[in-house]
Amino acid sequence: MPNPLDPTNADLHKSIVENLADGVYLVAPDRTIEYWNPGAERISGHTAQEVVGHKCFDNILGHVDAQGRSLCHTACPLALTMKDGEPRDVSIWLKHSDGYRKPVRVRTSAVHDAEGHIIGGVEAFSDDTAMVQAAADAARARRDALTDELTGLPNRRLFDAALAGRLENLSRYGWRFGLLIVDIDHFKAANDDHGHAFGDAVLVTVAETLRGAVRVGDVLARWGGDEFTVLVEAPNETDLLDTAQRLSALVARSEVRLGATSTHVRVSVGGTLASIDDTADSLFARADASLYLAKQTGRNRIEITQSA
Ligand code: GH3
Ligand code: MG
Repeated sequence: MPNPLDPTNADLHKSIVENLADGVYLVAPDRTIEYWNPGAERISGHTAQEVVGHKCFDNILGHVDAQGRSLCHTACPLALTMKDGEPRDVSIWLKHSDGYRKPVRVRTSAVHDAEGHIIGGVEAFSDDTAMVQAAADAARARRDALTDELTGLPNRRLFDAALAGRLENLSRYGWRFGLLIVDIDHFKAANDDHGHAFGDAVLVTVAETLRGAVRVGDVLARWGGDEFTVLVEAPNETDLLDTAQRLSALVARSEVRLGATSTHVRVSVGGTLASIDDTADSLFARADASLYLAKQTGRNRIEITQSA
């Protein structure tokens, strides 16, 4: 009785390939599809009956790369493998029979005859949707971890990293910068008088105005609550004051609207230039003290403290 697990047993090979989760198909040198396994049917939605006997470039899978460029007539991995005998492993998108694009990982290999001539090609492909989804989720999680959800501005964590970089550049190259802390005046009253949703609208409006008021190269973040922080490329205190005045004036000329309610808000700003001896803590301590002074002396004011 022959061994049913004899590795030269053709029926055994067929049964293995038919039961693979991966899609597998075999083409002749002119790329006529000779075989199409059930895995290929599941992943692509095309049945063996529809595709066997057709050329793989006959608008069946229509492989494209991440830029949407068609690979079928110029860079088909299977055609290239049949030309040079080299296996390929690429991530591309096929067209499902329902019309949408599905990410697949494709591996190709050449089929040789006994003399070593290439007599066909095999492509195995696996559904990459979960991988692509996981990569997108990871990218989103990274972005979310650094972004304030309400305003879309960088959050404190991203700001801290930027500040560390600026302090490093100051000590290394002498690139001067300043820190501004912008705090909305009487924000609590907006919340108390008109509700939390209106308070949120105030924060979003102020954030949008500040976003349009800083210069390219400055770093704006929502530090927390009603406080925003800005790293300003400024060679001296006059320049830092100019920026603070621009931010304050533009916020004052903004209007917060939600439903029938509308209001104007003012901000107090505390700031200071960074000196070469500063740490993040010493810089924040000076800017905080400036802000405190601006609040104590009437709000809607700007205080810039000399660097140490
Ligand atoms: P000051 O003029 O001294 O700056 O006082 P203020 O009323 O602006 O500031 P205070 O620090 O007393 O209150 C800030 C309030 O902001 C307290 C908190 O309930 C509220 N708050 C913090 N985060 C949010 C938020 O994301 N949305 C809303 N709507 N309110 C927030
Ligand atoms: Mg406030």
